Amino acid sequence: MDRYQMFIGGTFCDAESGEFRPTINPATEEPIAEVPVATRGDARRAIEAARRAFDSGVWSGLSPKERAAVLYRVIENLKEREADLARLEAMDAGATIRKTSMMDIPVGIEHFRLLVELGERLPTYEPLPWVDFPYVSWNFVNREPIGVCAGIIPWNFPFMMTVWKVAPALIMGNTVVLKPASDTPLTALEFAKCAADAGVPDGVLNVVTGSGSVVGAELCTSPLVDKVALTGSTETGRTVMKLAADTVKKVTLELGGKSPTLVLEDADLALAVDGALFGTFFHAGQVCESGTRCFVPASIYDEFMARMLERVKKIKVGDPLDFETTMGPVVSRSQFQRVMGYVEAGRQEGARLLCGGRRPAGFERGFFVEPTLFDGVRNDMRIAREEIFGPVLSVIRYEDVDEAIAMANDSIYGLGGAVFSRDIPRAIDLAKRLRTGTVWINDYHLINALAPFGGYKQSGVGRELGPHGLLEYTQVKHIHVDLTLDRAKRFWYDYIFND
Ligand code: NAD
Repeated sequence: MDRYQMFIGGTFCDAESGEFRPTINPATEEPIAEVPVATRGDARRAIEAARRAFDSGVWSGLSPKERAAVLYRVIENLKEREADLARLEAMDAGATIRKTSMMDIPVGIEHFRLLVELGERLPTYEPLPWVDFPYVSWNFVNREPIGVCAGIIPWNFPFMMTVWKVAPALIMGNTVVLKPASDTPLTALEFAKCAADAGVPDGVLNVVTGSGSVVGAELCTSPLVDKVALTGSTETGRTVMKLAADTVKKVTLELGGKSPTLVLEDADLALAVDGALFGTFFHAGQVCESGTRCFVPASIYDEFMARMLERVKKIKVGDPLDFETTMGPVVSRSQFQRVMGYVEAGRQEGARLLCGGRRPAGFERGFFVEPTLFDGVRNDMRIAREEIFGPVLSVIRYEDVDEAIAMANDSIYGLGGAVFSRDIPRAIDLAKRLRTGTVWINDYHLINALAPFGGYKQSGVGRELGPHGLLEYTQVKHIHVDLTLDRAKRFWYDYIFND
């Protein structure tokens, strides 16, 4: 079994405790590798290394172009290892090789490139209007890096989330301590190898493996960390915000969701049915923006559901390493139990289980769940209100579209959503009425590295990706230049002088 080391201050090392933890393949329940279990002391060493690297100017002192040159070498290294990374991600996260080799790794690398290119060109000088009172002064904003940024990431898209935390922070001149999820640390550690081989200076990127309550908590409370960026559940988001409050850290949070897919009467049915299924069952529903509540008009309900039941059977659950498989297991035993708990809650609250809701026949091992469809769901049931993070779709019938919009917005979350309709202007109007950070029209899940991504309400704070996301990794400094050197004209100094 492979044994990994963490990456601190430019060195691959064990935890100070010498402890290791196996990481489990969710399809086989077998360990695939061991990673160090970091202590608070290890987290502190990483933070101090990142602090020293930032304060030395070895990275923040480079021009964006110079930083980009190093990061393009990281991209080259990642590309060379693309096939290995895709396989490792599939084994560690239970993602299908179909998805990791066509999406997670190549698209993750592409996101990295696009973010670096965008950051390289983003102006650090922002002019302000000229001020001529009381005398002419020149005012401008200088965009500066924030400092040491902690990235805390979840287990659903380990490689993609690594990219989303590391690329914007580094291109904007910050240093990083990254904490992958305990269940899926491997591709983040491989990423560190690619960064080290590319000559990223020591301490600029650190990857520490350990639990949220130990390493995560140290990152959130250390006075040496300037910003925390978390992707995780809303519950963890609340904790992180509280932990970060004592040192008034900058915090960006990408949290949970319970996103609506709104089907209109005039939707292209074949597209809407497959779109709604893709919106929920992609990566076994373990996607923050999944469209897990599907609103279907009464007038087309029966036809829609008949097609949906037929199409859901085409989702092929199985070994993630088989290219024919289109849905793998959920990530862990605890996630499996959580999903099953929600299936039971749906039944008890009176929703109708149309299919799934159990381990597929013939799978004794692995955390597999059949694609699960509930209808007869009311928006006040737990399966419509709480994030399940598994392959469970709740279908809700509606009579008129205002009622559907009201139900769609009646959620503590506001991350994603979709409208399926042939009438694009109407769909855009409805998209504007949905209180969520992203709305797809006649599509789902297509995340664009140049567009902002993030949540309304309890789905998050701040944005990732695009210029909005890059600016979250900068400080705004106002510089005021007084253009006259004439002391006599500084009448406001007379507030304190009387001579
Ligand atoms: P999680 O909240 O359990 O963990 C996320 C990360 O936070 C992990 O690295 C974990 O170790 C760390 N953590 C846990 N407790 C902590 C603490 N007290 N202090 C600091 N760090 C702590 O989430 P998960 O189960 O790994 O991932 C699933 C969740 O992530 C879902 O809710 C999903 O919606 C959300 N998610 C959101 C987005 C988004 O962009 N909005 C993307 C992916 C996943």
